[in-house]
Amino acid sequence: MQVYRMAVGPMETNCYIIADEKTNEGAVIDPGADGSLILDKIETLGLELQYILLTHTHYDHIGAVAELKRVTGAKIAVSEEDAAGLTDGRWNLSAFGGKPVEAAEADVLLNDGDELTLGGQTIRVLTTPGHTKGGVCFLCGDELFSGDTLFARSVGRSDFPGGSMDALVQSIKTKLMPLDDNVHVYPGHGPSTTIGQERAGNPYIG
Ligand SMILES: [Zn+2]
Repeated sequence: MQVYRMAVGPMETNCYIIADEKTNEGAVIDPGADGSLILDKIETLGLELQYILLTHTHYDHIGAVAELKRVTGAKIAVSEEDAAGLTDGRWNLSAFGGKPVEAAEADVLLNDGDELTLGGQTIRVLTTPGHTKGGVCFLCGDELFSGDTLFARSVGRSDFPGGSMDALVQSIKTKLMPLDDNVHVYPGHGPSTTIGQERAGNPYIG
């Protein structure tokens, strides 16, 4: 599995493009803004986009979803509990000062343990409530896309509607810490890390 990172929009949200080299099937995780740059990259890589995967639906993670859907026809996959953010500006927080988000409809509603296939690869859904009620992480082999749940040496905010610090820490402890030390972690903001580094040095996990 190839992983490409692009920091997009004013919040510098990490948008990841993942690709199965054998089939050139690809997926985009959290296309928060800069749709044309993301589409250029997909074209340069020669990928056939299968999925638009959303760790959650805050505006800075979904700003380019509708554009990518229109151009590529890829399926939008989001947790059932966060799907409302695709159409509701109060839910996705854009109504409170962000740029309005073009509405999109979910194609696949995700639940804990669901598996999606990308070429020869399997992407597993781990529900990790706390930053939002329906926040999820995506695990593909040894690559974990952690959205705003787990950051390098930090965790996501829990003070937005539906957020809970207790739930967030519980999610990390019960869903992410059981993973192997060598699993790469690709967060929604900031640098990548590993489960081992976070187990050893993240002050929120302890
Ligand atoms: Zn967020």
